Amino acid sequence: MTLETASHQAPAPQGPSPARWQRAAMLVAVLLSLGGCTTTPTEPSVNHAPATATAQERRPAPQVEPTPTALTPPDATASHRVTALTITILSTTEPGPGEGEWGFAALVEADGQRILFDSGAKRQTVLRNAETLGIDLHTVPAVVLSHHHGDHVGGLLTLRRAVAEDAPEALATVHTARGMFEPRRFGAKPREVNRMVAIRPAFQASGGTFVVHDAPGQIAPGVWVTGPIQRLHPERNWSGSRRIPGADGWVEDTLPESQALIVDTERGLVVLSGCGHAGIVNTVTHARASIRTAPIHAAVGGFHLHQATTPHLEWTAKRLLELDLQQLLGAHCTGRGIVERLATRAPSGAHALKVGDRVTLDGLQ
Ligand SMILES: [Zn+2]
Ligand SMILES: [Zn+2]
Repeated sequence: MTLETASHQAPAPQGPSPARWQRAAMLVAVLLSLGGCTTTPTEPSVNHAPATATAQERRPAPQVEPTPTALTPPDATASHRVTALTITILSTTEPGPGEGEWGFAALVEADGQRILFDSGAKRQTVLRNAETLGIDLHTVPAVVLSHHHGDHVGGLLTLRRAVAEDAPEALATVHTARGMFEPRRFGAKPREVNRMVAIRPAFQASGGTFVVHDAPGQIAPGVWVTGPIQRLHPERNWSGSRRIPGADGWVEDTLPESQALIVDTERGLVVLSGCGHAGIVNTVTHARASIRTAPIHAAVGGFHLHQATTPHLEWTAKRLLELDLQQLLGAHCTGRGIVERLATRAPSGAHALKVGDRVTLDGLQ
């Protein structure tokens, strides 16, 4: 199979027990030391411009544009409006009917289209949780990966191999954004830490294909991937411990491939995020600018606010209200305490998600 490049593909909580939360906090600390989906707390005023213009040409490093309208929206009227949506959480910190882990995955079912978003951290977690929840992944053709971190791509090969023999087209097409396969290093160590570099040939050997998006693309009627997210606001939601090739050597990895999945529904946009390294405000802004300027019916998933400072959180809440965010359904790295603090700020509230939760257009099931 070949690596394809897609561009402008227009239509073609429950609360944990204190002990559980302490364990989750310990996991966060461990991951922080490993440079995964963690960050150091920062103020939203910190800028994060890429090192050089040449580096920008090589990869879509965060750019600062004057206004969100810098994007050229596709023909919004051509976007199908989804009427039936269910997002089932298959991997997040809080266990439910299935096991919890520091990772994220969810099954999206939108007007009959089935898409797996991220694949969890451990190899077996999503497979086991899907079985526990009675979810058949043999009829899920597509996968969207939010970014290269191991807590989002760890289950991909296991899942593909579990279905490929009986259903060759199942979990066979993986949508990523540009930058996904760039080599990464941890600090000054010369070891490759981007697991996607090794996963790519193994996945292709199983008959699978990667689609790399440079821009927002509609992958099913009313279901979009954002591609690399424009970073208009100086949110800085990554650890800073990894490096990526730049024009003059290895530079800070800003996760240029970080993308979200957007469902264009009759009630507004639903934003599904893995770790939100591009920032929740940037992500929501990008969705409205690139798909259509609609209310955000719900923002679901990991939004990497677990270490946000109070000023950062206040700034975030204010911007989200301005962007017409109706409801926040936080999982993974959003932070349960953060969700509780934002609960009174969104018109329809905020809730923390656990494994097995189902999000529909009518709310959390
Ligand atoms: Zn991450
Ligand atoms: Zn993560």
